[in-house]
Formats: sequence, C-alpha cells, structure tokens
Amino acid sequence: MDTLTYVPDVTLYDTRTRSLQPFSPRDPQKVGIYACGPTVYARVHVGNARPFIVFSQLKRFLEHEGYGVTLVGNITDINDKIYDAALKVGKPSSELAAEMAAAYREDTDRLGLGRPDAEPLATEYVGQIVALIQRLLDTDAAYAASGDVYFRVRGVADYGELSRRDLDQMDQGEGVEGADLKEDPLDFALWKAWKEGEDTSWEAPWGRGRPGWHIECSAMAEALLGVEFDIHGGGVDLVFPHHENEAAQTLAARGAPLARIWMHNGMLEIAPESMGKAEKMSKSVGNIRGLAQVLDDVGPEVLVLFMSTGHYRQPLAFSDEALEGARASAARIREAGRRLVAGPSPASLESHRDAFFAALRNDFNTAEALASLYGWIREANRSDEPVGNAHLVEMLDVLGLTSLLAAEEGPPSEALTLAEAREAARRLKEWGEADRLRDELRALGWEVRDGQSGPELVRAAS
Ligand SMILES: [Zn+2]
Repeated sequence: MDTLTYVPDVTLYDTRTRSLQPFSPRDPQKVGIYACGPTVYARVHVGNARPFIVFSQLKRFLEHEGYGVTLVGNITDINDKIYDAALKVGKPSSELAAEMAAAYREDTDRLGLGRPDAEPLATEYVGQIVALIQRLLDTDAAYAASGDVYFRVRGVADYGELSRRDLDQMDQGEGVEGADLKEDPLDFALWKAWKEGEDTSWEAPWGRGRPGWHIECSAMAEALLGVEFDIHGGGVDLVFPHHENEAAQTLAARGAPLARIWMHNGMLEIAPESMGKAEKMSKSVGNIRGLAQVLDDVGPEVLVLFMSTGHYRQPLAFSDEALEGARASAARIREAGRRLVAGPSPASLESHRDAFFAALRNDFNTAEALASLYGWIREANRSDEPVGNAHLVEMLDVLGLTSLLAAEEGPPSEALTLAEAREAARRLKEWGEADRLRDELRALGWEVRDGQSGPELVRAAS
C-alpha cells in the first residue's frame, strides 16, 4: 500500500475571480509575492503598516507550510505627490524621497517582522520601465503624444475584469492633465513629459520625462519575479486603477497575466472618536496616526497582535479600545509564557495547534487562528504539570510574535508606556486617570514605587 503524504491545502481569496482558489504555485520552492508599498512623500501612516504586516505574516505562514517564498515590497520614489511635497519644504525631490524611504524602513523595521526579500525603488528600474513602455508602443498598445505616452485602454478586451467596473464608470484619476492629448478619456499615462519645476527626469526615445505609477510596478514585478508570478497583493484601495492597469499593461506587453492570485487587504479605519481620545493620551496631537507614534505608544507586539485580530480582507477599526484589548491579550500571552517550560508540548493540546494552522490555510484567517491560540493557552494554564512551549512558539513565530515569550530582563514596553502615562497624569493632577493607569499596570504584573532617583517600575507583589 502506498503511504499517504499529507499535502497542506492552502486556499486564498482571489479578487479577479471573486472566489477562494487552491494555492498551487508555479514552483513550490520559488513562490513569488509582490506587495505594493508606499509612495514616500511623508512619514508613513499606521494604516500603511497593515499590508506590510499581512504580507510579511503570509510569507512566514507559507514558509511554515514548506514553501520557499520571495516577497517583494516596492517603494514608489517617483510620483507627483513627491514633487509637490518637496516643493513645499524646499528640498530636492530625490532628497525628500530618499529621506522618507529611509524613515519607512526604520519605522517598519520596528515591527520586528523582518524585511521583504527585495525592496525595489522605481528610480533603480527606469531602464526596465522604458523598455516595457517601448514594447507597448511597438505593439500599438500605447501611443506617444507631445512627449507623454498613453495606454490604449479599449485595446484590452478584458479591461475592468479585476475591478469589475463598467468602462463608462471609470476615472483614471488623472484629472485634466493630458486630457487634450488622450485619444480616449479612459486612457492612462505610462510616461509624462518633463514639466517646469520638476527636478528629476530621465531620457527616453520619445522624450525626457518620468514614468507613471502603474508601469513602475509592472516593470519591477516582472524584473524580480517574472510574469505570472504567484500572488500580487496590496490594499483594496489599489484594485482600481492601479492593479487594473498593472494587469492590462503586462497582458498587452507579454501576452501573459502578471499574477495568478490577486490578494487585497481591507483598510485600517480610524474612527473620529478615537482621535478625540487619542488627543488626550498623545503628546503631539494629530501625530497619533503615524506608525512611529503608535509604536512609541504601544510597542510592536501590541500593534502586530491588534492587526492580527481581524481577517485581512475585512476593514479593521483602529481605536484606543481596540489597542487596549490587544495590550491585554499580549499580557495574557506573556503571562502564560512565563509558566511554560522549553520543550515539546503535550499531545492533548495538539487539536488547538492544528486548528490554528487550519484557520490560516483557509484564506489566511488570523482572527480565527488567534482564537485557537487562546484556547491552547487556556488549557495549558489549567495543567498542574509543567507544559512544554513548542506549540506556542510555533504559532507565535508565524505571526512574528515570539518576542512575547522572550525572557524579560525588565518590564515590557506596554508597562513602561503605562508608567509614563501615569506619571504624566500625576503631574497634571488627574488623579482618577492616574489610579486607572495604576490598576492597568497591576493587571500586567507591575507597579510603580518611589526609588532614590524617582519612580521605579517593579514587579507587583501577587
Ligand atoms: Zn504597485
């Protein structure tokens, strides 16, 4: 009798077909994922962290399942927004883009999820971009007009398939710019001729200028992963026009689809009432939504755990209450970790671990997976015998959260943040708030005592 081999069956929701698709990569050892990154004209918003977290965790999960994965996360450093922002602050646009790209790497590094395998900058791929545009001109899929180059949308039979929009209800979002040069208002720019006031431009056979946003991604994705790579990802706000146009360009130039599965994460929604509360707890009002600020306030584990509480396809509401919930969950995991011993976990807990991975195999459902992780912890906490931590380490590793189990030499970042907030409340004589924060600190297992050089955080006597 043949031995049965267990093949993990991962399914992922594909935006193009609007259905769950079995994940069957071109080559299981060379899975290619391209996730659209930010345009670097300002410090990134906490919302920009969501796709970064989703696709970093997806890579970790697929590696857990035995696949070899290359994750590409591009950085758009040529864009109108960059010219505008640079003009306002009186800096060369290349300098502003380089500064903001470095800040993006610094801020996302702090999430503790590692870096994508490649982070191409559009400025490094202008040669490939020009060659791809030339190919589109050669095949009549595009046309040059006064130094601009436009893509002929009506030349692609399936245009609109990804976003399921009627041609008549589409707006490329290019405004009046180039409107008189387009054969059809539906066409979009592949290249824009240099204009007065723009301080970067490149030579091309049809004239000096710079690439449009959509063609940058088609060229970089192809250069790094080839066409028909496995997963193209990004926020759901990119489906139209960005991804629709990426797909159309590559199909027209290469006669093959750009990607096999299109995966889109829901938006992080910031409730206005949470901004009101945020003003209270933040030193610099309005800054709270910056990724760096949120990481200063709650630390990486709480933010990554919060982002994992929702299914990636659903919108996720960002609020102080939701972060509080994640903070309590992080404390629960740390607390459980302190009671575990290093080593294999008992077979009696296996069903929780298996359910955790089954949830991830079913369209990467981190919300459901976390419920199983907490189920595992509940049962481990009930045991009188010492429990081995192997399952918990394995589950947390996929989410990028093993640091929750790291031996602590000092108080966790959540406790430090609470202690600082309590000191601030005391200085403002907000005694009720200070007491509330003291209780929260105690719930984490820490308390503030007056030391020789001021307040000190010590373990709460239990
Ligand atoms: Zn893109």
